[in-house]
Amino acid sequence: MKRAILAGFIVVPAMSAAEREPTGGARPSAVEGNRGPAYVTNRAPLAPSAFVKLPLGSIQPRGWLRHQLELEANGMTGRLPEISKWCKFENSAWASADGQGQFGWEELPYWLKGYGDLGYVLADEKIIKESRKWIDAVLSSQEPDGFFGPRTNKTGLEGKPDLWPHMVMLNVLQSFYEFSGDERVLPFMTKYLRWLNSRPGEDFSRGYWPRIRFGDTIETAHWLYNRTGESFLLDLARKIHDNMENWTSGVHNWHNVNIAQGFREPGVYYLQAGDEKFLRAAERNYQTVMGLYGQFPGGGFAGDENCRPGYTDPRQGFETCGIVEFMHSFEMLTKISGNPVWSDRCEELAFNSLPAALTPDWKGLHYLTCANQAALDKTNHAPAIDNGGTMFSYSPFEVYRCCQHNVSHGWPYYAEELWLATPDGGLCASLYAASDVTARVGDGSTVTVSEETDYPFSDTITLRVAAGRPVRFPLRLRIPRWCQKPEAKINGKSVALKGGPSAYAVLGRTWKDGDVVTLRLPMRIAVRTWAKNHNAVSVDYGPLTFSLKIGEKWIRYGGTDQWPEWEVHPTTAWNYGLVLNKEEPARSFRIVRPTPHPSRSGERAMRDSGPAPLPGGAGAGSIGGTPGSHVAGPGDANPFTLETVPVALRAKAKKIPAWKLDGHGLVGQLQDSPVKSDERTETVTLIPMGAARLRISMFPVIGSVSNARE
Ligand SMILES: [Zn+2]
Repeated sequence: MKRAILAGFIVVPAMSAAEREPTGGARPSAVEGNRGPAYVTNRAPLAPSAFVKLPLGSIQPRGWLRHQLELEANGMTGRLPEISKWCKFENSAWASADGQGQFGWEELPYWLKGYGDLGYVLADEKIIKESRKWIDAVLSSQEPDGFFGPRTNKTGLEGKPDLWPHMVMLNVLQSFYEFSGDERVLPFMTKYLRWLNSRPGEDFSRGYWPRIRFGDTIETAHWLYNRTGESFLLDLARKIHDNMENWTSGVHNWHNVNIAQGFREPGVYYLQAGDEKFLRAAERNYQTVMGLYGQFPGGGFAGDENCRPGYTDPRQGFETCGIVEFMHSFEMLTKISGNPVWSDRCEELAFNSLPAALTPDWKGLHYLTCANQAALDKTNHAPAIDNGGTMFSYSPFEVYRCCQHNVSHGWPYYAEELWLATPDGGLCASLYAASDVTARVGDGSTVTVSEETDYPFSDTITLRVAAGRPVRFPLRLRIPRWCQKPEAKINGKSVALKGGPSAYAVLGRTWKDGDVVTLRLPMRIAVRTWAKNHNAVSVDYGPLTFSLKIGEKWIRYGGTDQWPEWEVHPTTAWNYGLVLNKEEPARSFRIVRPTPHPSRSGERAMRDSGPAPLPGGAGAGSIGGTPGSHVAGPGDANPFTLETVPVALRAKAKKIPAWKLDGHGLVGQLQDSPVKSDERTETVTLIPMGAARLRISMFPVIGSVSNARE
């Protein structure tokens, strides 16, 4: 590994597999079995992972992320049994010891996977207890041969097993074990995976979902192998890899969730195969999909339900299941590869797409989130989007049955990956958010690092170390791909920090109680031009992409007072092209931040009132401290609403009168930029894309008289 040593810093470029230190090199020697000094790491012959997940409960999310998790706990995920028949304990086949009953497919495990982890990251006793009830039932349902849960799945595919729902339940059990150490879990999983290993190879190539998603169980087999050392688990993983969808040779299935979940499989199998071609295959799959269908901002791709040739523009949608599964894939690949670009990709989706998939109060979601989406109505948009029926409006009900359950793991998994252990006894700040992490480091001492930040709404991150005694360990800080000039101080003293973006800065020193690291990741405005989408542009500031602020009119069309269904319609124009500074497009924007509102109670009242019709539309009112606006500080509130965004941009724009909704009710197709407009120049406000539920994130560029097109 090439390292530049800079005054106490080592700047490490993105690690390639070949550069990583082998087991027993610079890694601390194992003290018990496969354990390093602190945490379970990969057991030989698996290749070492660059980073290691910390035990659940090690990280306490704070700030806006905690607020999102609390909204989730008080909203759909926390209360889903009220409205989902798949989450009712009484008659669920997942809750019965003999596996008889109803609703034994993916929905319950989808929900429980995030629900349990939500309890663990929030230390919410009620959720932990409730999820434990389900897990106890599952653990009591094992047959002598090792199969468990709903018996219908044993013959679900024309008499052969449908193995997909069990993949998700295994993830539930992994988290439960990481949290509780319950001694029933490992023997139970071993017995089931022995049964799985007894199945013929064709069982892993059967069925639409199982065949494509079986990489999930390779990860599970490795997880269990690292804890038990049972070698049959590696045989099983190989057998799955050899028989399932061949993701190593490319992308052969174009279902959005299948891609988001399946593309990573070679990257996971790389740990066992030890050949870098597998890691490269995961990256190539990502590039293939994004090169064709990810040609707009937000971090997702056009897959509404499937990717379709010719449907690549920003009015195509990405399913909420796709958002959370893609994020999970990126989190896994960060740990495996040590390449920080996966964390950048995760943040892009988390900040810019996930919040807009949900109502601000987490009591409804929609199926499809698009980069350009000027109305969230319940009408059918097919065939302009692949799926027929209601796809855009917000509902908590089974109209969005998979997403309704599966959205649960998005933020909890994210919160679990903020900090990672490193195999050399250190800590890595992988995804930035306010949090406290308590972990064993160096010689085994326990330290707590408190991270104070409003990131991504501010560029400064303060880390305070609490340690019982001085301890030497490396602290790795991810430098995002967009950050050219990171700055750092230790205890107020600047430390030279060279090295480009997409790297980990390593602070190797003896840390003592009270040490403070201040990291600044200066953000700049950047204009991206999308050559494959008519030279339209999008605007970034650090990891945030910005959308036109469009006034929202929320119209309830169904549901109950507790669980309303909403359409959202625009109250202001959305058909703007941007007037850009030709020489330096990034100079076309002015950053504005709210001044704190004197009445914090007012902002809380708004926060609690959910998506009631918001007064004032998209005027310039809510940014800049206009009286009557309820502008929140970002630290503890929901930054993902029109009225509470902590940062915005002002831009010059002109309306394009011919740009309208098309016959299918979608934003009209983009035309080649630059485009012509005879309208007057106006000042418009752009807000973070994640807060913009109605959104124009891909803008035509207004041209001069000589070069513009109609
Ligand atoms: Zn879904």
